[in-house]
Amino acid sequence: MTAYKKVNTICPYCGTGCVIECTVDTEHNRILEAKGSPDGVNNEGRLCLKGLYGWDYLNDPQILTRRIQKPMIRRSGKKSPLEEVSWDEAIHFAADKLKTLIRQYGPDCVMGAGSARGPGNEAAYITQKFMRAAIGTNNVDHCARI
Ligand code: SF4
Repeated sequence: MTAYKKVNTICPYCGTGCVIECTVDTEHNRILEAKGSPDGVNNEGRLCLKGLYGWDYLNDPQILTRRIQKPMIRRSGKKSPLEEVSWDEAIHFAADKLKTLIRQYGPDCVMGAGSARGPGNEAAYITQKFMRAAIGTNNVDHCARI
């Protein structure tokens, strides 16, 4: 029989601060299930889809990558290794890829998604301005609508 325990934690996805009750397989150190904790003052036992299902990457070393602390690129697609580069090279690399995609498929092939946590109102404003004025699309949204 699998040994497990209940662990309460705060959802990391947005600023609402829902409390998640995780069921953890203590033998294999894996999360088996997540649900809204009745202790959560903000969420009162409920979670959105991100809180309910957005933890599976923790159990999968193919999805989980270490936090990136310096600019890095993959020169030839998802399978190539991450390579540390300067900020200038990383920004030019991303800009060239975006320009190539826009030339090939039009600006509506690009979407910008803002984050609810951390960057604040000014960053959200800059994100929508960049998408509309620089990229040329209205495809801009916010993680809370995922
Ligand atoms: S609303 Fe969703 S993403 Fe935000 S804290 Fe609650 S469960 Fe997490």
